[in-house]
Amino acid sequence: MPISADIPGDELRRALHRAADLVADYLERVGDYPVLPPVAPGDIRRSLPAAPPAAPEPLERVLDDYRALIEPNVTHWNHPGFLAYFATTGSGPGIVAETLAAGLNVNAMLWRTGPAPTELEELACDWLRQMLDLPEVFRGHINDTASMSSFLALAAARERLPGLEVRQRGLAGRPEVPPLVVYASEQAHSSIDKAVIALGLGLDHLRRLPCDAEFRLDPAALAAAIREDRAAGRLPMAVVATAGTTSTTSVDPLRSIAAAAREEGLWLHVDAAYAGSAAICPEYRALLDGLEEADSIVVNPHKWLFVPVDCSVLLVRDPDTLRAAFALVPEYLRTAERQVTNLMDLGLQLGRRFRALKLWMVIRAFGVEGLRQRIREHCRLARGLAGWIAADPDFEVAAPVPFSVVCFRARWGAPPEEEDRRNERLLEAINASGRFFLSHTRLRDRLVLRVAIGNLRTTAAHVTELWDLVRATRARLAA
Ligand code: PLP
Repeated sequence: MPISADIPGDELRRALHRAADLVADYLERVGDYPVLPPVAPGDIRRSLPAAPPAAPEPLERVLDDYRALIEPNVTHWNHPGFLAYFATTGSGPGIVAETLAAGLNVNAMLWRTGPAPTELEELACDWLRQMLDLPEVFRGHINDTASMSSFLALAAARERLPGLEVRQRGLAGRPEVPPLVVYASEQAHSSIDKAVIALGLGLDHLRRLPCDAEFRLDPAALAAAIREDRAAGRLPMAVVATAGTTSTTSVDPLRSIAAAAREEGLWLHVDAAYAGSAAICPEYRALLDGLEEADSIVVNPHKWLFVPVDCSVLLVRDPDTLRAAFALVPEYLRTAERQVTNLMDLGLQLGRRFRALKLWMVIRAFGVEGLRQRIREHCRLARGLAGWIAADPDFEVAAPVPFSVVCFRARWGAPPEEEDRRNERLLEAINASGRFFLSHTRLRDRLVLRVAIGNLRTTAAHVTELWDLVRATRARLAA
């Protein structure tokens, strides 16, 4: 074998077959693991050699170590009891697609360097556009995360401001440029703060606006803030509305926000990272009325469309706004093709993974109707749980349940701080059980537990088991 060669084909084949068994076995048994692995910080590191091996090791032995040391010690996101944050599933078709994409190892920075990946990315994003009942004008491309997608959208919004030429001239050292202001609700995701930081706008110029009783941005507060900023000589730039907030999955009133943004000439970005998936069901799309008015929309198929991490689709009304901000072609990347999409023009990154394959394969393997059924089932399970909580005087539902996340807390009749402490202990006890992993948030300054149903393996039996455990643990803490 030449010294520079890859491993022999038959060893690769054996290892891939074993990897296939490892993955399939894992997914069959994942529910037997404790959701959170019983490890302390540093345990994994100590169990592995500190220095790299000088001599080659057989892949078989490396896979043995994977099975013994790595697999048991991850947090099991594919576990049916994983109900924290936004629960996700890397589904079978997505796993197969990731394997195939790794085999190709294609880098679709240009159409020339990846014709099928480029065109499949355009196609799969257009399928998602159709599933979301959005007008044909929207064009999509895939980023790693919603954080990146929102950053790109706000960069395009900044570039669209007339007369500023930020791309060329920057912002620093220009006393004639007023502060550029972005508006979002107090419930908007922290990725918007990070985008504002990275774009050099300054956190002082992200207006976090108050919400109504159901945690939705108040359009009157938005109009007032824009007026106030204009009067003070600041330049309103963009509004970020959230469809499915991180804490409670509330949907901002998109239609009135869109009207305000249009009247003021502001870019409207909709963060539908979570609830965008639900919007493939007509009844949930209706909750996102006005979505079609946005300039840009982010939807994360890796959150609730069963596509493995990472896959975030940014849909924009006018891709030339992204190109205006980011297209830049050094000589070595100049190609002859015209009328093609070169994905590197649409954002910060040059090289890119072939993510479209998994989105395409998941949509095909489940079908749009199959995806809808799964999302509806998650919402049904969440409504059922919320009903039990609401009917039990020892508990309260802390926010409306429009989709598949239930925010709740237990009650003991103690003072608020003591109730918070006990709810924290309730959360710790449930997570220590190994059967479930829940996360928390704060609403109106009170600690709240969150149950996020989004995993393909979570069934009604799991939700019943969780509710029994929650009630028993609450009773134990009362005693
Ligand atoms: N937007 C919302 C509403 C979210 O809930 C999250 C994460 O949970 C994000 C954006 C960020 O997602 P990502 O990890 O893809 O950057």
